[in-house]
Amino acid sequence: MSVDDRDALIRYDQLASRVYSEDRMPQGTRDLILALGWITLRDPRRHDPSVGVWARTRDVLNVDNKKMWELIGEDAPRYEHDWQSDPKGCQAPMARVDRLCGRSTADGFTEADRVTGRFRFWGFCSRPRCRDYGKTIYQRARIANQKAPEPIPNQGGLLPLFFSWNWEAKYRKAVEVLPLMGSWEPPSYGLSADEWPPVPGDEPVKTFPKLRLVASGGQSIASDRPKLVAVKG
Ligand SMILES: [Zn+2]
Repeated sequence: MSVDDRDALIRYDQLASRVYSEDRMPQGTRDLILALGWITLRDPRRHDPSVGVWARTRDVLNVDNKKMWELIGEDAPRYEHDWQSDPKGCQAPMARVDRLCGRSTADGFTEADRVTGRFRFWGFCSRPRCRDYGKTIYQRARIANQKAPEPIPNQGGLLPLFFSWNWEAKYRKAVEVLPLMGSWEPPSYGLSADEWPPVPGDEPVKTFPKLRLVASGGQSIASDRPKLVAVKG
């Protein structure tokens, strides 16, 4: 085994170890990262210039192009509101009782957080005092929605933690190819999930600066190939 092979073996092990200890990792993204790691570090055909990374990954995963774009699109960094977690029923407080009204809502709107840009849903029933209460909140929400920053992403952004590649172009293409995904713009907070500011109330994210993979020193990697992310500091 050459020094180069041994180095690649160690880096592949580190990659797998880090992938398996990443709590935020959906299954499809995990498959894709491990396949990219195998192909660039361990695959016996990795030095064959006629074998492109994209085609080889597709073959290793036994998927078609559409599925490849889906796997990449699923990792497009974005904010997705969890509608399930919103409170149900009228949110107006009851007079003299320590609870909310809770009747079915007639009106609803969202209010963005002025710090994180993420939002919550408010709903109110048709009773006059609940509607009045709702109106006050609505005035506040209207201003908050204007002043709030772009929401801090809560989905995707994992591929750039492991490989540097032209991810922005890849995410854009994925969204184009998969019309159901709607529109996508790169978050101003950064493409990589470790760059996003912490959100109060969220589980703090484990970051892995010490386990970051060392990019192969001096080894030439064509620019159209994903490159392992280098150790920081
Ligand atoms: Zn009510």
